[in-house]
Amino acid sequence: MSFQPLLPGSTSPSGQQITLGVMGGGQLGRMFVQAAQAMGYFTAVLDPDPASPAGLISHYHIRAAFDDQQGLAQLMQRCDAVTTEFENVPAPALLSLGAQRRVAPSAACVALAQDRVQEKNLFLRCAPHSGVRPAPYAVIDSAAAAAGAAHELLPGILKTARLGYDGKGQVRVATRAELVDAWEQLGQVSCVLEKMLDLQAECSVLVARSANGACVSFPVQKNTHQGGILTRTEVYPGVLPEALAQRAQASTAALAQQLDYVGVLCVEYFIVSAGAAALELVVNEMAPRPHNSGHYTQDACDLSQFDAQVRTLAGLPLPTPRQHSPALMLNLLGDLWFEPNAQRSQRSEQAVSPPWDQVLALPGTHLHLYGKLQARHGRKMGHINITAPSVAQLRQTSVQAQALLGLAD
Ligand code: ATP
Ligand code: MG
Repeated sequence: MSFQPLLPGSTSPSGQQITLGVMGGGQLGRMFVQAAQAMGYFTAVLDPDPASPAGLISHYHIRAAFDDQQGLAQLMQRCDAVTTEFENVPAPALLSLGAQRRVAPSAACVALAQDRVQEKNLFLRCAPHSGVRPAPYAVIDSAAAAAGAAHELLPGILKTARLGYDGKGQVRVATRAELVDAWEQLGQVSCVLEKMLDLQAECSVLVARSANGACVSFPVQKNTHQGGILTRTEVYPGVLPEALAQRAQASTAALAQQLDYVGVLCVEYFIVSAGAAALELVVNEMAPRPHNSGHYTQDACDLSQFDAQVRTLAGLPLPTPRQHSPALMLNLLGDLWFEPNAQRSQRSEQAVSPPWDQVLALPGTHLHLYGKLQARHGRKMGHINITAPSVAQLRQTSVQAQALLGLAD
């Protein structure tokens, strides 16, 4: 399938400026809006929050719930094409938009990514093409399934099939009795029990795929999580074994092709030991949109993940992205606004801005704050991308930035 590109800065047959829309006004929506506006598009955001990060900077902000028929109708009238910034948009809303407007990724792809059970089925189906399998798992959707779960899956992690993020909706369990309790604690909803793997590392891969089937990969990200939340991403030659990185890229492209996916897709992988110093890749989950681990592309590549989202949505060409600098991204959680650190002596519950002036004095630091008006513990407030001419310099700048911010290594 291909279609006439929506050229930047042009007008539609009805005479209105070509406008790209996004479902959701969070930070990912904001960075999509920034990329689209940089290219001369008008933008529209649907989000009920009057202070949503994307809504605050968009040409149009439709303040309505994601399933509000009037809001959706308004979005459709405003926009020539619509994308999404989070996977939990109601699939029927995307379906109805898709009946009259170009929507990428499709409602079907987004619906699949909303549900871990469907996602795992896809991973299993794709294993012969992608060469990568998910962690051993079982669907737990009844007390009987919990009580009878296979011993080989314990210790494991019970994850709700829907609506989990940043480690929320997950409980670690060591025994069947704990599993039964955990399933009740999670509200007796459909869940997946995954075997707890001994992770050597984690990585993720972004691909962008056009409506005509052209697919490009970004360099593979090595990710560090703390408490289930991504804290750091590193991308430079040698950060991961090359053969493994290539397999992760091939696997992600195979998944995108299997789904006939259009847009930016991120797939997360675990790296586990396979004996005798060999490493194996295990597929964890996917996001039908740009991803926190892909923010490094904004400053280290000649095409960012948000540029790619704009291009795939508008039907523009999609050259292979090139990384021009070693890169490291640090997530900035709201805790930084409260925590004491080496440079700031007093602990206070009054939010205080971190010492950006000192951080920005370091060469190759790129600050991205999301315009969230209130800092809260654990809230993603922004990120810093660090770029450098060499990996040694990158590490040095990172150590300095982390010391200034009181961020652990
Ligand atoms: P996200 O914010 O990426 O959407 P999420 O809440 O959907 O997160 P997962 O990606 O499933 O959750 O898990 C979060 C983190 O927990 C993983 O990145 C990994 O560090 C750890 N984890 C998850 N599943 C396993 C597993 N089977 N074995 C070991 N560690 C795991
Ligand atoms: Mg994850």
